[in-house]
Amino acid sequence: MKAMVLHRNALAESGPLTYEDAEKPSPGYGEVVMSVLSCGVCRSNLQVIEGERGKPPKLPLIPGHEVVGIVESVGPGVSSLMVGDRVGAQPQYDSCGSCRLCISGMENLCQRSGRLGWSVDGGYAQYMKGKASHLHKVPDSIGDLEAAPLFCPGVTAYRAVIASGASPASAVAVFGIGGVGHFAIQFARLFGARVIGVSRGAQHRKLALEMGADEAIDPSDSEALLELSRREEIGSSIVFAPSDDSIEKAMALTRRGGTIVLGVDGNISNYRFMKGQTLKATLVGTRKEIEEVLEIAGKGLVKTRARAMKLEDANEALCSLKENKVEGRIVLEP
Ligand SMILES: [Zn+2]
Ligand SMILES: [Zn+2]
Repeated sequence: MKAMVLHRNALAESGPLTYEDAEKPSPGYGEVVMSVLSCGVCRSNLQVIEGERGKPPKLPLIPGHEVVGIVESVGPGVSSLMVGDRVGAQPQYDSCGSCRLCISGMENLCQRSGRLGWSVDGGYAQYMKGKASHLHKVPDSIGDLEAAPLFCPGVTAYRAVIASGASPASAVAVFGIGGVGHFAIQFARLFGARVIGVSRGAQHRKLALEMGADEAIDPSDSEALLELSRREEIGSSIVFAPSDDSIEKAMALTRRGGTIVLGVDGNISNYRFMKGQTLKATLVGTRKEIEEVLEIAGKGLVKTRARAMKLEDANEALCSLKENKVEGRIVLEP
């Protein structure tokens, strides 16, 4: 099969992935092999490829962890899926099912889980192996291109919006309007909240408004930020923009007693306990939440903004992402 393979960590500009022949996987116990239809290009793929997260435990490695495909072969012990099913895979390849986190409904944080495109080969390929227990059937009403991003940014946004407590009672500010942010705006609207999109890029602010945000502001416009914080209407902020400055501004903008949800890593240096704010962090989501996202998207209540690129153009896609030139998501199609 053809795949985009990482042999050693390198910057996206240097073309770190090579388009080459790789061995087609075969399904082991509890596994299926899918013929890949679409695979989203995630910022964390970029971090893995460039070595920001250290050397991957598996090299050579096929990246990609938001993948939709057709089940092509089924291994022993699989009863939930059949050849021909259209399924999607999320970043978590599996989870142990027996640790404190798994049994308390926080399986997304399981430390004994494989990660697609990190410790297990992912979806930048014609075929990929998945664990049946962590694959989901995709509703017919969702296209291949639109479906793949639901499995990472879609569910990440959903979990973060739930954590924010979004409701008609207050406004939610969403920092960073990319793959995750554009979904978060739609979920927060669905939960009845007033939504303010926050992004430095004019094109991203435009996307925020198109996704249903009531307002879109530029975080470098200090007048606008000040005016917004004076209104004291922001009950919660959700941060997907990968910068400490965004976290600081989110805390400043959110009213006293409000909630700040972090969907990215960052330094929290200016937390003021006098404001009585709650800080939360969310990481992707659980299988139950993925099912909920698929149901919502299947009804057309949330839409994916994505554009397709060819598998062999993955290096170019990563560069566009690095330069913040992507509107929504780029999805690779082998
Ligand atoms: Zn992702
Ligand atoms: Zn576990």
